[in-house]
Amino acid sequence: MHLSLNQLSKSYGGTTLAVRGVDLQVQSGEFVSLLGPSGCGKTTILRMIAGFEKPTSGTILLNGQDITRIPANRRDMGMVFQSYSLFPHMTAAQNVAFGLGLRKMNRGEQQRRVEEMLELVGLGSMGDRFPHQLSGGQQQRVALARALAISPQVLLLDEPLSALDAKVRVQLRNEIRRIQQQLGITTLFVTHDQEEALCVSDRVVVMSQGKIEQLGTPEEIYLTPSTAFTASFIGAMNQIPGFWVDGKVRIDTHPNTSLPDEFLQTQPTNLPDGSRVVVLVRPESIAAQPPEQTAPPNTNLLSGLITGRTFLGSAVRLSVLVGEFYLNVDVPTGQAEAFAAGQLVQLSFPPDQCRVLTIEEAPK
Ligand code: ATP
Repeated sequence: MHLSLNQLSKSYGGTTLAVRGVDLQVQSGEFVSLLGPSGCGKTTILRMIAGFEKPTSGTILLNGQDITRIPANRRDMGMVFQSYSLFPHMTAAQNVAFGLGLRKMNRGEQQRRVEEMLELVGLGSMGDRFPHQLSGGQQQRVALARALAISPQVLLLDEPLSALDAKVRVQLRNEIRRIQQQLGITTLFVTHDQEEALCVSDRVVVMSQGKIEQLGTPEEIYLTPSTAFTASFIGAMNQIPGFWVDGKVRIDTHPNTSLPDEFLQTQPTNLPDGSRVVVLVRPESIAAQPPEQTAPPNTNLLSGLITGRTFLGSAVRLSVLVGEFYLNVDVPTGQAEAFAAGQLVQLSFPPDQCRVLTIEEAPK
């Protein structure tokens, strides 16, 4: 089912503009995440699609049909919430059957459908349990089975993993993706967790203050953030301040001395000379070498002092003081022994890994 949001806006009580003119096309069978910080309007968008909230302006189309004014119970949407929202006095099977009873499906068919759905979410043997006899992850599987049982046109997931512990969260997000692909169901997934959004989605909508900041595949969002907000919200990002001069960025790595400024090569961009800019480069794009070692050719080179180390598992993140700014640099754990706090280090990074934003758009 193709879902289309057109200039969708919502204000609460006439003042708070929670959603501001959102345009979004979700293709049939696509998995799209709405990603952004708390209060940016993600849930409000989902609730408008579900029909729980009336848009202040704009339209919602499902396969070309305007459903903006259709009541929630006639929209055929399956919804899963952060709090599992199961009926506590009903078994897992009765919870899954709930929507089928409302749709007047006969008993035999209901039973078959419930078994099929519980099987799909990996709970084939647990239909007789009550919610309090199930773990959080299992309860959320029941909620998912209940949402899918009615064969909805669109699946809406509102932070469904937020209440679960880390390991279950990863398991369940992978299963949600597997089930979504198996059924080919158009899905909208709300999360504030960037890793979660990047892992499961066909496309990610990055939101800030009720508006879409960027829309793209996980790779596009991560590798080519088009706004400062996206750059700072998705993953760790270094920001090196400087000035755009002659197609390069002049940076002051020797403040308060007469030593000359250094220049960084970056991805090409069109800016007037003298513009204040920041260079964005990810910690994993910077290589560290002992100062005496030869650096790779055609890279930017900076020298600095290691001031700290954080163990991240597969990598160690070095904090390196260069002039008056710090850079985070990820070194594979196997090579990290060579770099201790207090040592000098040489950093190198290729120009195509450096994006330039003017200071007006730069993250705060
Ligand atoms: P979170 O991740 O914290 O749930 P969100 O991105 O889903 O945040 P929304 O819940 O959509 O954001 O809220 C967007 C804005 O609208 C917030 O400023 C919020 O305070 C406001 N808001 C949400 N619901 C209501 C309501 N019923 N009445 C008034 N204001 C509301």
